[in-house]
This record gives sequence, C-alpha cells and structure tokens, in this order.
Amino acid sequence: MIYLDNAASTKVDNKAIKAMLPYFDKVYANPASIHDMGVKAKKALEYARTTIAKRINAEPDEIIFTSSGTESNNIAIKGIVKALKNKKNHIITQETEHVSVLNVCKALEKTGFKLTTLDVDKHGFININQLERAITKNTLLVSIMHANNEIGTIQHIKEIGRICKKKGVYFHTDAVQSFCKEDIDVKKMNVDLMSLSSHKVHGPKGAAALYVKRGTKISSIMNGGSQEYSLRPSTENVAGIVGFAKAVSLFNAGQNKSMNTLRDHATSRILSEIKDARLNGSRDKRLSNNISLSFKNLNGETILKHLNAKGIYVSTGTACLTGSYEASHVLNAIKADPAYIKGTIRISLSRFTTKEEINNFIDVLKETIYNMQRIDPSKRFMC
Ligand code: PLP
Repeated sequence: MIYLDNAASTKVDNKAIKAMLPYFDKVYANPASIHDMGVKAKKALEYARTTIAKRINAEPDEIIFTSSGTESNNIAIKGIVKALKNKKNHIITQETEHVSVLNVCKALEKTGFKLTTLDVDKHGFININQLERAITKNTLLVSIMHANNEIGTIQHIKEIGRICKKKGVYFHTDAVQSFCKEDIDVKKMNVDLMSLSSHKVHGPKGAAALYVKRGTKISSIMNGGSQEYSLRPSTENVAGIVGFAKAVSLFNAGQNKSMNTLRDHATSRILSEIKDARLNGSRDKRLSNNISLSFKNLNGETILKHLNAKGIYVSTGTACLTGSYEASHVLNAIKADPAYIKGTIRISLSRFTTKEEINNFIDVLKETIYNMQRIDPSKRFMC
C-alpha cells in the first residue's frame, strides 16, 4: 500500500497515539472539574495550548480549541460578522478557498451581507492591488487561505496581512494545509484569525484550533458555557488535543525539507517521463507535500481507480456526476485547460513518505497513463 492522499488526512503518529492513551482511561475527567483528576486534564490541555501557540508565535490565551478546520473557519467568519454586523457589512474572500470558507461567505451573502470574491491568476494567486482596491470602509473581514488544498499554491500572506492592517480590517487565514509545513508567525504575518487542524499533521481527527489575536472583536456563534473563552463552549476533547499538540511537536523543518526534495524529484520525473502531463499551481510557492497533475484527454477518476487497484491511494480534482464531469471550483478558477482538466489527480506526500514509495508509484503511474493513452479517445471517458 502506498498512501499519497495526505492532504485529505494523515496517519496518526505512533508517539501521538501513545501520548493520547492515558487521557481515555486514566485521566478522563472533565478539564473544568476542580478535583485532582480534572486539574490533571486541565494541565494537559494548557500544555497543548502552549505548544500550538508557540508554533505560530502566538500567546496561549489566543488559541481556541475546536473540533475541525471547518468549525474553526465557521467560528472565525461568523463570529467577526456577528460582532461587527451593526457597523459594517462587507466580506472579502477569493475563488479557490475551501468550501468551509466559501460556503459560509455565500450563506452570509444570502442574509444580506455584501460579498466580494476575488479571482486568481493561472497559478492560483490573488492580485494584491485588486484586494487593496476591494477594501472599503464597510469591509469587516478579509478571509484568504494560506495554502490551497488542491493545487498547493501558497498565497503572499504577509503582503495581504500588511494591507489589511493598513486598511484597518480583520484578516482571517485558513492555514489548515500549511500548518507545520510552512513557518508561521502570526505577528509578522499580521493575521488576526487563523484556522489550524490536527488530522493534516499526523494528529487525530476531531481536534483543531483557531488563533484569535488578543483584542479582536468576535462574538460566540454558540450559546453554552465558558469553555475556550466562551467562543467554543463545549467540553474539550482532551485526548485529541494532547495528540494534536504531540503531533505538532514531532513535525520539524528538516522533515519539510525532505518532503520538498521528494516532491521535486517526483514532479520532474513525472513531467519528463510521462507524455502530455502538466503541473497545476505555482512551481515555486507551493506546499512541500502537494503535486497536482493533469493528463491530457484522460479521466482522473479512471486513473485513481487503476492506481487504487494496485494499492496506491491518491485523489482527483474532478467529480463524475451522472455521466458528465464537473471540475473542482479551484481548477475552474485557475482556468485549467479543458483538454487537461478532467484528467487531474492530486498526490500529497507526508513526512513518512519514502523515495522508494515515490519511485514505485511513478513506475505504476507511467504504465497506467501509457495504457490509457493507447485507448481510442472516444472510449476513454466512461464514468
Ligand atoms: N481548509 C482547508 C484548506 C482544508 O484542506 C480542509 C480539509 O481538507 C479544511 C479547511 C477542513 O478541515 P477539517 O477536515 O478539519 O474540517
């Protein structure tokens, strides 16, 4: 088995599993309880908070634990909107955001907020001048992701943060894909809110975080207790959060460098050894683990199925809906060539991926694509 779908989810690091175990059957108290076991659970929670905070140069009390990246994005956007709705009514985002940002913004638009969705260039970058021009005195929030989950493009976050600060608008960034893979310093980046998730960095599912800069005007979108500074009033998933923080502490710059090298090795082998193959997204400002590829006049889902039959797991950038193909909103936004768009697959590495796995995968991919390219084009596109 070769697992190359790490942008969707990752294997939990064994050391993170080990760190979590006591919090299921030994220290299982509610961290809000004031007896000894509750205090122990609370201590573990606060240690995890400090670990996550340090990783992005934030303060521990600026970290809110949530259950998912999706929840963090919802709390950030709806929370700012709720706090400022009587003063301002304009939100800015961009076309290639994850649906947990895009659909929140679209839902708010339906309730009367004004929405500007910036377009992107062929590599997936927004135009900074266009962003600056789009900000008005009514803008309450700019939400632009750090790195794209499909094509791996890393936005010029520092520049975006600088403009938002200059214009006095809140800046939220979805850093679910870039967390631990890129150096993040929320102060240098001038970010007010940042979403992070555990299961993309070898932590468990069901744990995530939202960075909220001190002094940010944000309202809770849930009613309940006072947990997580009342912004996420639920009993915390202590075991999951402990595993999240442990996974973060195990992820280092050296591992990213190795992933970068492996990614570049795979990309140049594929592009030079396979006919009619293209890389989507930016070549230079790209996530260390992302390779988004398109093959001319082929079908990504068929490629995926052939690879799956050989025990290789990747993902596609298109969906086959009752006989027709729907390209992802990201591929549409970068105006990917129609001849290539249907033949898109995403390969995403992890810090556990080896060169041997990558070379084996490429050998199978080469054979698969070669066999598919020999089929009469009129018979290739069957769902
Ligand atoms: N944002 C981005 C960029 C993502 O890639 C994902 C998940 O794929 C999410 C948000 C949602 O995160 P979660 O799966 O933790 O809800």
